[in-house]
Amino acid sequence: MEYLSLFKMPTSMKITGRSSSITNAFINSIIPTVLPTNEQVKEALEILGMDHDKFECSYCGSTASEWDHLRPLVINKLPTGYISEIHNLVPACGKCNQSKGNKPWASWIISDAKLSPKSRGIIDLKQRIERLSIYEQWQDPTVVNFEAIVGKDKWEQHWENWETVQDTMRKAQILATDINQLVAKSYKSYSKK
Ligand SMILES: [Zn+2]
Repeated sequence: MEYLSLFKMPTSMKITGRSSSITNAFINSIIPTVLPTNEQVKEALEILGMDHDKFECSYCGSTASEWDHLRPLVINKLPTGYISEIHNLVPACGKCNQSKGNKPWASWIISDAKLSPKSRGIIDLKQRIERLSIYEQWQDPTVVNFEAIVGKDKWEQHWENWETVQDTMRKAQILATDINQLVAKSYKSYSKK
């Protein structure tokens, strides 16, 4: 019996590993949300072939746990201008939401990305893609021009704040690595004695 094969070291965490969640938070936190009416939710589900008794992930058919942005809010670390409104949201499961991230749905769904519907072998994928395409054309999405609304100063300040946070994380990671190595070294020499 190989006992070492049972062992798995917990993944060590990096401060800079949180960099893209910070970027997402800087964009997500400024996105307006529009609450749909009962009628709009009904219409949305009808387009996706669902109703009260059949409420599932639009991408893979698993139990839906959230509504996911069909068009991503963030591309290349910048806001796309899309917002949280019913015609830009579809029921989704955690697996799909996680796997899709900021990728456009149409290329992600047929990609080999980890946990994507294609790589999980979802059988009725073609029908799901058709429904999502119709859903996408249901209503024109709102596209917000943030800078035009809030003005240059506030907009630039927001991104300066982002840069400060990213820069602090980079510096903090360098110090953390240094501390980690010093502790590891001292522990080795200590345990030899
Ligand atoms: Zn799913």
